[in-house]
Amino acid sequence: MTQPLLIAFDGPAASGKGTLASVIAADYGLPFLDTGLLYRAVGHVARERGLDLEDTQALGEAAQFIHPTLLEDDALRGREAGEWASRVAAIPEVRAALKQFQIDFAHQTSGAVLDGRDIGTVIAPDATVKLFVTADPETRAKRRFLQLIKANSALTFEDVLSDIRIRDERDSSRSSAPLEMARDAVLLDTTNLDIEAAIEAARSIVKARRGGV
Ligand code: C5P
Repeated sequence: MTQPLLIAFDGPAASGKGTLASVIAADYGLPFLDTGLLYRAVGHVARERGLDLEDTQALGEAAQFIHPTLLEDDALRGREAGEWASRVAAIPEVRAALKQFQIDFAHQTSGAVLDGRDIGTVIAPDATVKLFVTADPETRAKRRFLQLIKANSALTFEDVLSDIRIRDERDSSRSSAPLEMARDAVLLDTTNLDIEAAIEAARSIVKARRGGV
């Protein structure tokens, strides 16, 4: 029996990994999970309930009650939600509470595509294909700025670049499942690629890893 196709996309904020992951999932008819939304949902709950970021037990408990239906909320896509997500994502109790759901999603019999920071390293080290998608911070900030400015006209490019640098540093330096490239991942740098070229590059990587299919 052939193994289900499991594809892991990791990389820093606004690298394009989410867009690429959803296109590849559609190509192969696979279910797709944007795992950043799980951390965004925990951050959102923490903020709404006024939970203390030092109270790691309460945050871990809140994370246990995150349900996929909560991930539809548009509030999760904003700038503050990203900042809160990266704060709660550094807490081991939160990561532990969200881990099994992601492992189960990754290993369903249909196969799956997931994007995040630790998919290829922690959630699905056995993934068929692992891509580490990146781009330089200025390019990522420019992409994110163009998305966020629609909802917040007071936002500046410098604000977004600063957010990205802070998040990169926090995500890469935390002790629990830091952002790092799996040794068997393929690096895809999208700095000089437009969206169509990045999609073609991702498709070629997946195809090559699957032996040309
Ligand atoms: O990918 P996105 O920007 O939505 O992720 C928000 C935050 O959630 C990241 O900055 C990171 O701190 C955290 N995250 C994580 N592990 C994942 C996915 C996201 O730590 N697998």
